[in-house]
Amino acid sequence: MSSDGAYGRLFIISAPSGAGKTSLVNKLIAEMPGIELSVSHTTRPQRPGEKAGIHYHFVSTEDFQGMIDEGLFLEHARVFDNFYGTSRTAVLERLAAGIDVILEIDWQGAQQVRAQLPDCLSIFIVPPSRSELQRRLSARGQDSAEVIARRMRDADAEISHYHEYDFVLINDDFAQALGRLRCIITAERQRTERQAEYVERLLG
Ligand code: 5GP
Repeated sequence: MSSDGAYGRLFIISAPSGAGKTSLVNKLIAEMPGIELSVSHTTRPQRPGEKAGIHYHFVSTEDFQGMIDEGLFLEHARVFDNFYGTSRTAVLERLAAGIDVILEIDWQGAQQVRAQLPDCLSIFIVPPSRSELQRRLSARGQDSAEVIARRMRDADAEISHYHEYDFVLINDDFAQALGRLRCIITAERQRTERQAEYVERLLG
C-alpha cells in the first residue's frame, strides 16, 4: 500500500496490430507519474531495437511452460504463433505499492485478468477506419497480399471482442486519442474509494 493507503489501479489496454496502441501507451507512461507498464514474458524472437527486460522478458518455450506449471502467470495466451504472459507477482507488488499498472495484452489475457481482478478497467483501441488499418498493416511495403490479408483477419478477430471492454478509444488523431486516454486514467484516479483515506484525514 502507498503512503496514502491506496492500492494502484489496474488498466488493461488491447488493440489490433496497427491501431497505434504501443505509441499511445509509451507516451502516456512517459508523461504521467505513478503509472507503469507491465513487462510481459514472451517466447517470440527479439526484434531489432528491442531490449530484454524493457520491451519483453524473452524466454524459451521450456522456461515459459515451467512458469505456467508453477502458476507464476496472472494470465497467459498464445497470440499468433507465440506465447505471451504477465507475471503475477510483478503486477500485484506494484499495485500494493500504490502504483497504477498498464497491461498491454490481447483479448484472451484480458478475459483471464477480469475473471481474477474484476476491479480492473479495460480499454480497447481501434483504428479510425478499415482502409487506414489496411494501409498501416501494409505500410512496410514488402509483405505479400497473403500476409497482409492474414494481418487483417487477425485484426478482425481482436476487434470482434471490443464489447468486452469498459472503454473504446478511436485513434484517429494521436494527440486527441492520447488526451482521451489520459482522461480515462485521471477520472479513474478520482474514484471515491481511492480518495477515502484522504477525505477521512481531512475530517480529522
Ligand atoms: P508483439 O509480438 O507484436 O509485441 O505483440 C503481439 C500481441 O501480443 C499484441 O497484441 C499484444 O497485445 C499481445 N501481448 C503482449 N504481451 C502480452 C501478454 O503478456 N499477454 C497476452 N495475453 N498478450 C500479450
